[in-house]
Amino acid sequence: MEERRYRDEDVAPGSVGDVFRQIRSKGATSRSAIARSFGLSPSTVGLRVEALQRLGLVTDEGKHDSQGGRRARNLAVVDDAGYVVSVEPGVRLLKLSVANLSGHIIHSERLPAVASQEPVDAVAAIWAEIVTLMETARVPFERLRGIAVGLPASVEYATGRVVMPSFMQSWNDAHVPQLFRTHTTVPVLVENDANLVAISELSEVAGSHDDYFLAVLLGRRIGGGLVANGEPLRGFNGAAGEFGHTPVAGPAVIPCVCSLDACLESVASGAAVAARLSALGHTVDIPSDIVALGRSGDPRVLAILREAGTHIGAALASNVNFFNPRRVVLGGALSLSSPLVAALRAELFQKCLPIAAQDLDISAIDDPDTAGARGALRLLLDEVLAPARIDELAQLALVDEKATS
Ligand SMILES: [Zn+2]
Repeated sequence: MEERRYRDEDVAPGSVGDVFRQIRSKGATSRSAIARSFGLSPSTVGLRVEALQRLGLVTDEGKHDSQGGRRARNLAVVDDAGYVVSVEPGVRLLKLSVANLSGHIIHSERLPAVASQEPVDAVAAIWAEIVTLMETARVPFERLRGIAVGLPASVEYATGRVVMPSFMQSWNDAHVPQLFRTHTTVPVLVENDANLVAISELSEVAGSHDDYFLAVLLGRRIGGGLVANGEPLRGFNGAAGEFGHTPVAGPAVIPCVCSLDACLESVASGAAVAARLSALGHTVDIPSDIVALGRSGDPRVLAILREAGTHIGAALASNVNFFNPRRVVLGGALSLSSPLVAALRAELFQKCLPIAAQDLDISAIDDPDTAGARGALRLLLDEVLAPARIDELAQLALVDEKATS
């Protein structure tokens, strides 16, 4: 079953939701600027703003003197009118964050993993943790407006169906939003973890419609997310960017869900590197242990990291030739491994077509640990505050008011 989505095409220009979008993006925040921007009369703008105030979404900020000495009141989003929650059920940890309507994270938790459970039980456990998170953050429960779940798997974005997860086999084919319906009616979005890294990077270049980039997630698994024209590019079924299963000359050191003898993930992912380091007698519990071992200078460790980086760089070169991004952004714990990233860069630039390489920028994202949450919360806020949804809420509020008057 498809989850209801609110698309920008569904919005009448200058509607309540469209005006809210202007206030939210700080494009126009005074009544006069809104009137100018949409070509609306002052009385119509007044009605739009009243509708938003009735929903509790905007407020008049303090007065300020404009150049002509007239006092113009600015409108602002009421931050605590609603809250959204991001959930990342990883193999080692369950990460949760709650943010207000401005996207400011007010509380985060890192909890023991639940992903090894059957999805129905895992979702019940996640829901219980969300309830606790809201209580800890002192957020009124009725103000929860949505949940976004980031998974290490391909996701059919329209339905939230999980396809071929790397490590959580029982989640294959799970319809995650439906599993949440036992617990809540708020919108539940499900997205691939690498796409969330891409979306987190998007937020830092907001308004840039000509941005083309490839976000690469180097964690236990290897994932990719594409952005074209400043928008996430998910492909027809949601699998765009999943280059982790590119065939490579092995040997595979971990089994993989794909049917290849050796794919990039089974040869060069964090899980594969960890297996090779464990075979040398090293203890590797979490991906950041790999980064720490790389700093030790042990030549055998460095050789494994460089080999993984070379494999990833070669696979990326094909994708860069194909997609011609302006930049490649590296996320995930292994993006902090200097030997791996140096080998990746060298191989990528060596194998890439000159025209694709000439202006290509390769960089690591800031704070890879929170990138998934930042991407999830941004995606979710754009959905729960979509102009068409706000229009619908304004209509419902009007109907309610008439019924009670
Ligand atoms: Zn594979």
